[in-house]
Order: sequence, then structure tokens, then C-alpha cells
Amino acid sequence: MGNEPLTHLINPQVKEIQISGIRKISNLVSTYKDAITLTIGQPDFPTPDHILRAAEQAVADHRTTYTPNPGLPELRQAVSEFVQRKYGLNYNAASEIIVTTGASQALDITLRTILTAGAEVILPGPIYPGYEPLVRLCGGVPVYVDTRDNGFKLTAKLLEPYLTDKTRCVILCYPSNPTGRVMSETELADMARLLENRNVFVISDEIYSELIYDAPHRSIALLPGMREKTIVINGLSKSHSMTGWRIGFTLAPAYLSEHMVKVHQYNVTCASSISQYAAIEALTNGIDDALPMKAEYVKRRDFVYDRLVGMGLELVKPEGAFYLFPSIRRFGLSSMEFTMKLLEEQRVAVVPGDAFSTYGEGYIRISYAYGMDVLERAMDKMEAFVKAL
Ligand code: PMP
Repeated sequence: MGNEPLTHLINPQVKEIQISGIRKISNLVSTYKDAITLTIGQPDFPTPDHILRAAEQAVADHRTTYTPNPGLPELRQAVSEFVQRKYGLNYNAASEIIVTTGASQALDITLRTILTAGAEVILPGPIYPGYEPLVRLCGGVPVYVDTRDNGFKLTAKLLEPYLTDKTRCVILCYPSNPTGRVMSETELADMARLLENRNVFVISDEIYSELIYDAPHRSIALLPGMREKTIVINGLSKSHSMTGWRIGFTLAPAYLSEHMVKVHQYNVTCASSISQYAAIEALTNGIDDALPMKAEYVKRRDFVYDRLVGMGLELVKPEGAFYLFPSIRRFGLSSMEFTMKLLEEQRVAVVPGDAFSTYGEGYIRISYAYGMDVLERAMDKMEAFVKAL
């Protein structure tokens, strides 16, 4: 007695949270030394040199103190100009933009600001596994909508029956992780018409907005009636290959940002000053840094897509992000069984679809954030595997 763990006193909501399925598979894969992994959700390109130099300069100049809670004013100005120029979004640098530690923390402060216990949050499945635990920690109730037979898109028609008077928020993640799908102009317009007169927030996670291949990015916040109820989440992790710098941001009307910034302040005070100086460089002198990466991703997407189609796999050609999400249903294996067998027999690692909610069952996620040589070897092995099944 007296020195025993107080396990029973740990917050049950935290105890119930599961380690992400992507992390689990990555841990498992690391035990197979010779495996080719296609599991990673981060760009394989290095952070551009000019951004590294800006960070080095910030360190040399001792610009290493706290910054204002919502971020350096110059950075918020740079974000404001970047999103205006790229996507036509108008947000005031002083009152409507918060610089966060990655898109992850942007999601956290947003959900904590808008959710109360019992609030329902719509999640189109399959979906990035980062949202559900955050919703649960706020006492919110995740309500999944199965988008598998709808091209992995949450359309107004599919969403409408799920809206109740408890619905507080709809999360949209397009371009999508894990499917790479993007909502069309018409689909966005229909969604806006459905939601404009409802008391529902929209969180639009646009972290892959710079990685759309066939059309310009369009934010739902631009549509009539949507600006006041939408919180746009974005950041530099994918656009500038800066996952480890931890820079994200929120775009939200002043009446919301005013409260979100309090959560942010007590949560992290501010994002890293050095990373913020690097981000100013990225968003001013590096506004098109994503373009050469995008050209490379398009080649890889086309290559892997053609190979998978050649193997007889059923899949939609993704319009953005760097993932493909083929169906493996016809093999009569669960996505976990398929993944394990592929890993054991051919030493190729992918993520089982059920890591993206139960609505990802029947699929696997293949990341093409890898060099062509890796992708070629992986596809040869996968073809041999599929032939033998
Ligand atoms: N949203 C989505 C859809 C993502 O895929 C990721 C990262 N994989 C994040 C948010 C988190 O981004 P960050 O690293 O900037 O926190």
C-alpha cells in the first residue's frame, strides 16, 4: 500500500483512446528490417534551403523568445496574404488568424472552443484518425457517415439524414487523407446550401490544399453563408515539407478566434519562435515551393495508379494529397489480414483501411511520398503478391 499506481484515477476518456492504427502498423513494420514501407504520411522532400537559412538566421540573431500568443504579426500577415493570393480567402491578420503547433493543435483548439459534452461531430469515414480522439476528449460524440459507396465524399445528400439538433460540427478533410479525393465545386455548393442556415460549424481541414493535381483548391469558406461558421485548418507541414517544424494555422471569424486564442494561450503559449521565422520565409519567398514537389507527386500518382489498375485492383484516381486507397475486398481478406500477408510474404508495408475508422475496412492506404525507385520495387512485389492470391 502507499506506492501503488493510481490507474483507476486516470481519466477514463483518455484510457479509452487507442493508439492510432497507422502508428501500430509503423511500429510493427520497424521490426521487419528488410520491408519496403509505403505507410508514411509526410513528404519525402527536404524542407527547401531558403527556409532552413531563415531559421539559422533567427537562431544567430537570438530571436528565440516567446512570441505573441497568436503568432508573430509578420507571420500572420504572411498567412493572410498567402491564403488571399492562393485561394481568395480574406482573413484579418490581427483578429482572424492563429499560428499553431501544426494542424494537429489547430484542430485541438478549434474543437475545444466549439464542443460541449454530448455535441455530435460528423466525420465522413474513412477519415484521418486524428479527429475522433480529440472529439472524445471534449466529451463530443463522433457520428460517422459511410462514404465508401459515394466515391469517399461527404455530399449534402449523404449528410442530411445525419444532422440532428445535437450536431455541432461537420469535419471536412479534402483533399482527403486517406483517399486523396477532392470535393467538386458543385458538391461544395450543395453542402453550403444545406448548412448555411443551420447552427452547425464546419471544420475544413485543408492541410493538403497545395497538393491538388487537376484543379485549383477551393475552400468551402468562400461559399455564401459559410465564412461565419467555418474554421479553416491549414499549415506548412505538407506544402513546404515542414512536418517537424510544427507550424499550422487557423482561419476563423474574429468572434471565434477571440476564444480559440485563449485555449491556445493556456495550451502552448505560442508556436516555436524559430519555426515561425522560418514560416515567414516560406510564405513570402516560397509561396510556390510546393510546385516542384507537386510535379513529382503527379508522376508517382500516375505510375502507382496504373500499376494497381494493371493488377486488377479497383480504385478511384485521387485528385490530391499523396495517397491511393484501393479496394482489396475481392480477395476475401480483411484489410488487416491483407496488410499482414503482404508484409510477411513480400515485405511491403501499407496501412490497413480500418486505421481510418471501420469505414475504411476493405481498403488499404498506399502513400506515394517515396522516390520512384522505391515505388517501382514495391509495385513489382505487390503484383507478385496479388497474382499469388
Ligand atoms: N490533418 C490531416 C488530414 C493530416 O493528414 C495531418 C498529418 N498527417 C494533419 C492534419 C496533421 O498535420 P500537422 O503535422 O501539421 O499537425
